[in-house]
Amino acid sequence: MPSSKDYMEMDDKYCAHNYHPIPVVISKAEGVWVYDPEGKKYLDCLSAYSALNMGHCHPEIIKALKEQADKVTLTSRAFYNDMMGPFLKKLCEVVGQHINDPNKSGIMALPMNSGTEAVSTGLKVARAWGYIKKKISKNEAKIIVCRDNFHGRSIAIVGFSTDIAAVRYYGNFGPYTPGFVIIPYGDAEKLENTILEIGAENVAAFLFEPIQGEAGIKIPPEGYLKKIREICTKYNVLMIADEIQTGFGRTGEFFGCDHEDVKPDVMLLGKALGGGVYPVSAVVTTRDIIGPDIITPGTHGSTFGGNPLASAVAMKSLDIHIDDHLAQRAKESGAYFLEGLRNIAAKKTIVPIKEVRGKGLLMAVEFESDARHIVEILKDNGVLAKHTHSKTIRFAPPLIITKEEIDWALSIIEKVFVVS
Ligand code: PLP
Repeated sequence: MPSSKDYMEMDDKYCAHNYHPIPVVISKAEGVWVYDPEGKKYLDCLSAYSALNMGHCHPEIIKALKEQADKVTLTSRAFYNDMMGPFLKKLCEVVGQHINDPNKSGIMALPMNSGTEAVSTGLKVARAWGYIKKKISKNEAKIIVCRDNFHGRSIAIVGFSTDIAAVRYYGNFGPYTPGFVIIPYGDAEKLENTILEIGAENVAAFLFEPIQGEAGIKIPPEGYLKKIREICTKYNVLMIADEIQTGFGRTGEFFGCDHEDVKPDVMLLGKALGGGVYPVSAVVTTRDIIGPDIITPGTHGSTFGGNPLASAVAMKSLDIHIDDHLAQRAKESGAYFLEGLRNIAAKKTIVPIKEVRGKGLLMAVEFESDARHIVEILKDNGVLAKHTHSKTIRFAPPLIITKEEIDWALSIIEKVFVVS
């Protein structure tokens, strides 16, 4: 049987080097635990970048997947299928309560696959709404985004990224899509000033993350979400929340925007919606913004978007998030885990710690210098986590993690971080 080393060599030879993985091979998983081919067990503190809220191979998700796989998996949108409608009805009912719909026009969704596609879709919808409803002059629409954003890596999205890796490759992926304006994250005043500088009549949308995940779990100042809501309403600018990482309970509320009781106009969803087994993403907004006068046949699509298998899995994923109160669990477990991390950070550590921060089970430890080697030592001791940029380690275990499992993780983190 091939060893972990054999699998890593195979990846290295045949897969483009677009990632720099921690040297561990996962061949089996259940709940919060994963196993390598040699049988060594690890606690997953990354959850596939927050896509595994309900843990690995959740039995109800796997059951839904298998049952649907025996019936029909893919129809394409050339035809109707009997799963997409029920899935989107549920999605709109669940998410609709969190969407701003001042005219009570109704909630609609556009299903896609990856998070990146949901973002691209949201941007197209915003521009189309800008031209059709806001009457922006042809090709003048602007979308404001935030510095240090992470919304994916498509050719358009990478053009308005300030991520180090993206910037490093700037020269190789241009020319970039025009129409995006970058402002600092967490600065509501700057948003208003930028809208005024551009001319409010030409601004279609403001795209933001309620907490910047890939940037290192950057939490905006208290009141930021409320203020940007007010500004977007004042200037008739669509408030687009990218909840792909923060959504579905990860931060201790159902959505990141719920921390300030704020309803965006458009919500971008992905990751955990797919129950950790299948890529499912969606744009959820109002009929006023995505209705048949704006998105017409042929203006957008995807062969796999809204397929029956994805729909069955995502419907079950929604049920589990709600029925198992995963947001509440994340709130309680996150507070406990974060306190444990703060206690560790108060001791003398092998690399000085600058800050510990987080909300729910989206947490980060920022070191004063490079942390990659620490992630590898954690792995050797049975805890899988990943650094984001070079100095910050993110801890984001499945939301089903128990107190005993957190205690175990903290004991390993303490052993690795603290000078003995
Ligand atoms: N938006 C946010 C906030 C993300 O964190 C990510 C992925 O990490 C994406 C978009 C892109 O999602 P995907 O990798 O599924 O394309």
